[in-house]
Amino acid sequence: MSAQIIDGKAVSQQCLNAVADAVAARRAASLRVPGLAVVLVGDDPASAVYVRNKNHACRQVGFESFSYELPADTSEAQLLDLIDELNDNPAVDGILVQLPLPAQINSQNILERIRPDKDVDGFHPYNVGRLAVRKPLLRPCTPKGIMTLLTAYGIDPKGQKVVIVGASNIVGRPLALEMMLAGATVTVCHRFTRNLAAEVAAADIVVAAVGKPKLICGDWIREGAVVVDVGINRLADGSLCGDVDFDAAKQRAAMITPVPGGVGPMTIAGLLENTLQAAQNRD
Ligand code: NAD
Repeated sequence: MSAQIIDGKAVSQQCLNAVADAVAARRAASLRVPGLAVVLVGDDPASAVYVRNKNHACRQVGFESFSYELPADTSEAQLLDLIDELNDNPAVDGILVQLPLPAQINSQNILERIRPDKDVDGFHPYNVGRLAVRKPLLRPCTPKGIMTLLTAYGIDPKGQKVVIVGASNIVGRPLALEMMLAGATVTVCHRFTRNLAAEVAAADIVVAAVGKPKLICGDWIREGAVVVDVGINRLADGSLCGDVDFDAAKQRAAMITPVPGGVGPMTIAGLLENTLQAAQNRD
């Protein structure tokens, strides 16, 4: 068997087209164009690429884009001042601070300073809490993007056994909440999980979000399972790969996301959808 490849780029483009249509409709109705502020601190090359992609997508859908590139020695107080300014700026609907931040800045303090109704990354404890109590508002982008991708391919997690490898605040944990909301039975694995192979082998849907190339071996995958690979790892030769041994896993899975071109573009789609939603909520 060779798995069907889940095309995140194509589904993301459909989402972007829908957002662009909604923006055009807002313009036609003389409503404000949504504004997204993207803040980059320092010169981490991977972060610079992510920010460039986000700004590009922003322009593609017709948002107003506000870009801030601050030096690596920016203090926490300076960044908090910028957040306060953006919180108060009526043209800004969404605020995104690219992580990771330099060591002198406490990321949690920054994320919690963003007004929850402008928190388009969905990282503020208020928005995570809303998801936890099954009343989501702005949902964390990567988990939201994964749910959209599964829906686009007719995959319903209801009643399925979902195994998530990785328990971070930005992917694994909020995805577990999304999957529970969708009616799945969820297992979250992490660095202290004893028998990862056995956990993965029991899954109808496996999601890998660890950041270790090929951690998930192909022969762990149950025949006919759905495999979602969130990992983005750069190899010595400059190429990208995920957390799953793709070539081996695709021999057993029914469907699988590639890296790149799987979950990555869906995260940007989630971000733009959240920004549109934030603007609509503020009308
Ligand atoms: P993180 O480092 O914050 O968390 C990693 C998680 O993996 C932790 O919960 C840890 O306990 C677990 N882990 C580590 N080693 C393990 C092991 N041997 N077995 C089982 N679990 C183990 O990472 P993150 O920020 O969640 O990112 C994970 C990966 O996803 C990275 O490659 C990152 O680049 C990628 N990512 C991609 C997108 C996207 O849009 N595609 C978005 C966010 C993150």
